Amino acid sequence: MSTVSYWLKEPHDGLPSSRFDGRPEAAVIGGGVTGCSCALTLAGHGVKVRLYEQRTVAGGASGRNGGFALRGAAAPYDEARRDLGDERARLLMELTERSLDRIEELAGDAFRRVGSLRLAADDDERDALRREHDALREHGFAVEWLDDLDPPLDRMYRGAILHPRDGALHPARWVRRLAAQAARAGADIREGERMTVEAADADVVVVAGDGYLPSLLPEVPVHPWRGQVLATEPLRERLYDRPHYARLGYDYWQQLPDGRLVIGGNRDASLETEQTDVEETTELVQGRLDALVERLVGYRPAVTDRWAGIWGATPDLVPVVGEIRDGVWVAGGYSGHGNALGLACGELVARAVLDQRPPELDLFAPARFTAV
Ligand SMILES: Cc1cc2nc3c(=O)[nH]c(=O)nc-3n(C[C@H](O)[C@H](O)[C@H](O)COP(=O)(O)OP(=O)(O)OC[C@H]3O[C@@H](n4cnc5c(N)ncnc54)[C@H](O)[C@@H]3O)c2cc1C
Repeated sequence: MSTVSYWLKEPHDGLPSSRFDGRPEAAVIGGGVTGCSCALTLAGHGVKVRLYEQRTVAGGASGRNGGFALRGAAAPYDEARRDLGDERARLLMELTERSLDRIEELAGDAFRRVGSLRLAADDDERDALRREHDALREHGFAVEWLDDLDPPLDRMYRGAILHPRDGALHPARWVRRLAAQAARAGADIREGERMTVEAADADVVVVAGDGYLPSLLPEVPVHPWRGQVLATEPLRERLYDRPHYARLGYDYWQQLPDGRLVIGGNRDASLETEQTDVEETTELVQGRLDALVERLVGYRPAVTDRWAGIWGATPDLVPVVGEIRDGVWVAGGYSGHGNALGLACGELVARAVLDQRPPELDLFAPARFTAV
């Protein structure tokens, strides 16, 4: 049975209407952060754009995620430097830092720029975080090393990196706001309308599907993963003032301003079954999340919501943005880090459609998967 996230239950005003009749110049498939960002950029440049979302805006991963707004891509910065080279790793990091600035500009109270804390669960992870810390420092990016953690983290973890410029999102509120801005700029946003690449009648089609890409554009090497999350009742005490994550991101949580804990991950409890596009929770993973809540809080608060979402991963964990077939473009494959990257890549794909050549596009070229 499909699930609804805590975030998506927030009442909202709906979108301003900007429907137009007739054929659009550009069709965008997918009403998450990527599609809305792309539609906003295209409409802002006077393009007649129509966005199709089969459910509601933010109904996919964009309204179901953990709400971590992190710089960088899925790989740690030291590994990105090794795999992409210094110059390209720096370009990617700077792109996402600018994206966080842009979220801060556009999101209002859906974004709190409180930093994020990446914790080390054991000595190996501590060494890995130390390497990432040093690699960031060497390139002049703000980062702090913490040896002393507050209880109960001091008993559970062995140091942490503070990323001071990251933040916490209410992701559905944020993406609904982004969609409203796209509509106000002139984008025709059609909720409840399913579309295919073949049926979209427009000069240009942009597929903004992330975890849904396999069904929309099977030639793009993006694979679906399921993420599971829960939200508790408001806790009596304020324990966590920023998003926290550990064990390579397999554990992540944030405490919301009203005190509730949103906690997700633990896909490593069953990697084989979590590699799926079925948007359902499982007892195994949810049971692990319950146990983590107890360790983090000291008791078992009531759980008010449990949900799942689907995100898309590429083989090298770097997104794919570019033209796939004549007039058919793609942006997605954020490999679990789509909040800042989705905003950035939606804008990048729009700028590419507009025939601009932002240098960051080369980082995400689809051709890297076919090049010999
Ligand atoms: C549980 C979970 C936790 C996560 N946590 C984080 C996090 O804390 N930080 C972070 O940075 N990233 C996180 N991510 C990843 C991030 O949420 C995604 O990468 C990002 O939201 C992708 O945005 P998108 O717009 O590309 O795709 P989506 O938000 O998935 O939007 C794609 C949309 O396309 C629609 N669609 C599909 N097919 C069709 C069709 N045929 N016609 C019309 N519409 C269609 C879908 O309904 C969907 O709404 C998480 C993901 C999940 C699932």
